[in-house]
Amino acid sequence: MIKHSIIIPAYNEEAGIKGYLSNLTRFFDVKFPNYEIIVIDDGSKDSTVKEVKAVKSSKINCIKFSKNQGKGKALKYGFTQAQGNVVVFLDAGGDFPPKQISNFVKAIEQDKFDIAIANKWDKRSRVHYSLKRKIFSKIFSKINSILFKINFSDTQAGLKALNKKRTENIISKVENNGFVFDLEFLILASKNNLKIVELPVVLNWKNKKGGINLKTALKMFQQTLVLKKRFAK
Ligand code: UDP
Ligand code: MG
Repeated sequence: MIKHSIIIPAYNEEAGIKGYLSNLTRFFDVKFPNYEIIVIDDGSKDSTVKEVKAVKSSKINCIKFSKNQGKGKALKYGFTQAQGNVVVFLDAGGDFPPKQISNFVKAIEQDKFDIAIANKWDKRSRVHYSLKRKIFSKIFSKINSILFKINFSDTQAGLKALNKKRTENIISKVENNGFVFDLEFLILASKNNLKIVELPVVLNWKNKKGGINLKTALKMFQQTLVLKKRFAK
């Protein structure tokens, strides 16, 4: 029986996804052998799907969107396909060394928390990140703490673990399909009194062409204002 489902949204990730998936399968085979990895190819224009299929593991399931729909949409769909009761949302870029995933899985498995999220700003975190991204991250959190009165240091990191049964109702209500999905999910989870823990993280950020740029950042702020309107009702 599958206990752990790792959902990986992937958009133009041909550069590193094969190596990262190999590392992940090696880690999970030993640590949590009853797992599945669900890769959602979000309409990539490169050879992401080919690279995923080159990893020989019966644990990996690759689902392909015919066109690009956004990270949030990919996570949401992947979640509906998950069979395990511990669901891990994980970025495809290989920024998060696998070993630490244990801390996130255990926080859920021991039933202490419903959601465990990575916090780049924890004193114990080891983060290799560009200055531009650090500034953007800080501004984004500050705005959100004012707009939504939430107290997370970091809503956006691409490593989260969820108790499937306790979060499925909330995931189904998240409307944002892009990067603001994470924020909206956590606002809804807080409003529903779910138990959320922020954990330290090791992040070796790999700057990818087509990642978050000024255009994406502005879109995120604009979508955050849409959220504000929604929650003001
Ligand atoms: N992603 C996606 N659809 C998109 C954009 C991004 O599925 O339209 C995925 C991407 O492949 C990665 C995650 O979402 O797994 C985070 O995106 P990205 O790597 O661009 O962000 P960064 O690493 O710069 O924070
Ligand atoms: Mg990335």
